[in-house]
Amino acid sequence: MRLTVLGCYAATPRTLTNPTSQVLEINNQVVLIDCGEGTQVELRRHKIKFSRINHIFISHLHGDHFFGLPGFISTMRLLGREKALHVYGPKGIKEAITLLLKLGDSWTNYPLLFHELTSKEQELIFEDDKISVTTIPLDHRVYTNGYLFREKLGKRKLNVTAAEKYGIDKAYYNNIKNGKNITLDNGTIVSNSELTFDPPEPKSYAFCSDTVYDESLAEKIKNVDVLYHESTFLETETDLAVKTKHATAKQAAMVAKEANVKTLVLGHYSTRYKSIALFKEEASTIFNNVLLADDGKTFDF
Ligand SMILES: [Zn+2]
Repeated sequence: MRLTVLGCYAATPRTLTNPTSQVLEINNQVVLIDCGEGTQVELRRHKIKFSRINHIFISHLHGDHFFGLPGFISTMRLLGREKALHVYGPKGIKEAITLLLKLGDSWTNYPLLFHELTSKEQELIFEDDKISVTTIPLDHRVYTNGYLFREKLGKRKLNVTAAEKYGIDKAYYNNIKNGKNITLDNGTIVSNSELTFDPPEPKSYAFCSDTVYDESLAEKIKNVDVLYHESTFLETETDLAVKTKHATAKQAAMVAKEANVKTLVLGHYSTRYKSIALFKEEASTIFNNVLLADDGKTFDF
């Protein structure tokens, strides 16, 4: 599982920082999460092919999380995209984007499919044989969802040495890979677990931005491998965090601890602070495995 952070700062684009956007590669699926201004440029900078992205998940309709989307959709048209593009986001996103396309008489020549969200309950919104995606309802100034991405359990891997030891013909290897036991010529049954290795543990990633500190959040993301939680402010600005419905680094760490996640990644920093190292310092007093997102940073989990 690989996370590439294209942008992770709050509010406005600046010379050296971008608003929220990230690419998650999970079980060979490539998804885009939020699409702030600058997303296209950063995708190019990181040599991530636009055509590999088939699903875009938008958390909420504040500009710093989706103002890059119309441009991205339009560029796909210019690049001659034919495959369908799926956009998940709050109700209203379809109207906003289609109005822009309509005014410019620039309808896409590929299917552009919107999946508008309205539920305040956690819901499964995408599933294939590789991954599932569930919403994480968040508490922000407007209707907002985080997203929980989970890999599906892969197939068991053939243990060739074990199969050879029992003298099993290669013709049965596919059956073994598909979970079957094997009966030897002498009638002995060799169980599948003796002939295969366990598949790798499925990974999970929870994206939670933007949100005020919410105690009930931990329950929805229990035991995930990686939690990205916004930390717009430090503890000194807790009042401001409450007022603007954002979280502090300490609060993000409290959620990580309560949810028993393996790794916490912080981001969505207010640009008022001199160094983002302060966020890690604060969160580390509560939770011991804290990483700092930064524009252009890639994490392999
Ligand atoms: Zn917001």
